[in-house]
Amino acid sequence: MMVQRIYLLLLLVHLPLFFFCGFPAILSLSDAEDPATKTMEDFSGYPIHEPHFPNSVSSMSVDIHSLQKQIDELSTFSDTPAPSVTRILYSEKDVLARRYVKNLMRLSGLSVREDFVGNIFGLWEGYEPELAPVSTGSHIDAIPYSGKYDGVVGVLGAIEAINVLKRFGFKPRRSLEVIMFTSEEPTRFGISCLGSRLLAGDEALVKSLDRTVDNQNVTFFHAARSADYANDQEELSSVFLKEGSYSAFVELHIEQGPILEEEGISIGIVTAIAAPASIKVDFEGNGGHAGAVLMPNRNDAGLAAAELALAVEKHALESGSIDTVGTVGILNLHPGAINSIPSKSHLEIDTRDIDEYRRNIVIEKIHQSALNISQKRGVKLLDFKIVNQDPPALSEKSIVKAMESASQELNLTHKKMISRAYHDSLFMARISPMGMIFIPCYKGYSHKPEEFASIEDITNGVKVLALTLAKLSLH
Ligand SMILES: [Zn+2]
Repeated sequence: MMVQRIYLLLLLVHLPLFFFCGFPAILSLSDAEDPATKTMEDFSGYPIHEPHFPNSVSSMSVDIHSLQKQIDELSTFSDTPAPSVTRILYSEKDVLARRYVKNLMRLSGLSVREDFVGNIFGLWEGYEPELAPVSTGSHIDAIPYSGKYDGVVGVLGAIEAINVLKRFGFKPRRSLEVIMFTSEEPTRFGISCLGSRLLAGDEALVKSLDRTVDNQNVTFFHAARSADYANDQEELSSVFLKEGSYSAFVELHIEQGPILEEEGISIGIVTAIAAPASIKVDFEGNGGHAGAVLMPNRNDAGLAAAELALAVEKHALESGSIDTVGTVGILNLHPGAINSIPSKSHLEIDTRDIDEYRRNIVIEKIHQSALNISQKRGVKLLDFKIVNQDPPALSEKSIVKAMESASQELNLTHKKMISRAYHDSLFMARISPMGMIFIPCYKGYSHKPEEFASIEDITNGVKVLALTLAKLSLH
């Protein structure tokens, strides 16, 4: 009895260990190997890795009402009427939404800081604060007329995951940090994942931002200054983080595709993120009157573009992998009159894959086709510009394992999948081991007002995130 009392006392003063032994499968590490556990076992005379509170994982509780209320409230910081959401970088509504997120972080007891591009960090210090923290987060900016869940679930859900762990009595070993990334969407300055690219130390980006303007001709630095962020390149460079700054990064996000909903699965465990390359192409022909210039005498820049668009499809299909995709999302003809042969054409091509080598072959083939088409049709290839060519990222095996066992312990159906859209995680992977958790969303809709994720699915995602963070924190 006495021994049991001492043991209970030990459990109370060692809440982390209490948590640890409450989740027999919480770590892939064997409990018996943990020196603190060993000491406790020696002292108490009991094997402490037995589940003393077998229901503890299921007793983890998400405050559904608060979370839904916060999602709804955040959606009101919008430049377009509900149900649509429009929140553009450094706009008045963006600044108000940022304030809202910082307040929530403070209410959860996190210490809040911001960097010079406006990435917001909320830290919960662990009991070994010198270790690299585990981080989680996403974005809250929203493209024009989009919905209220993309990104938001991974920010408000992350803050709630911290609340879940706090209510549970968990004490993190590694500190846990929630990050709200600046401008994941490229809306204002044409650069996606601005905040996470900078965290990953993109020097070329810092330089190019000096010349970057939005469609109102407002410079990046003018916009940043107006929201109280960076004044110059030097301040922006202070955003960079060293590799190893985090021991792990995990992002919770709606799937933005239909797979989980169609298959009735609660949790998607992302094993890889496909990376996009963007290409801009300009052709120039002779133009002329649609009636007067006979067919054999034409140098139609529009047909060159059309032919290249079909070549993009062909080259993506030729790769032999379902993971290779190619899209011509923009095709402009000049002068754009029914009775005028297009003298100029402009295409923007997006091609993606989870295999960088395979994707780069597609880019090379597209380039070759553009050259051939230009020669064959007697049109000039004015420009073939690879705007960006980001490498894909693989999730870290140990994080995948943590997400899987968290889902199992929570009795949630789950499957491994690929993220075909990219996220801040793609760039965080450059400086930290990375993983992503997907939850289903209605019909896979995203980037439109109909975007929807049920509070039950969000709750499941928050629980898996909380448990995954707990595991990684003890690791
Ligand atoms: Zn997103």
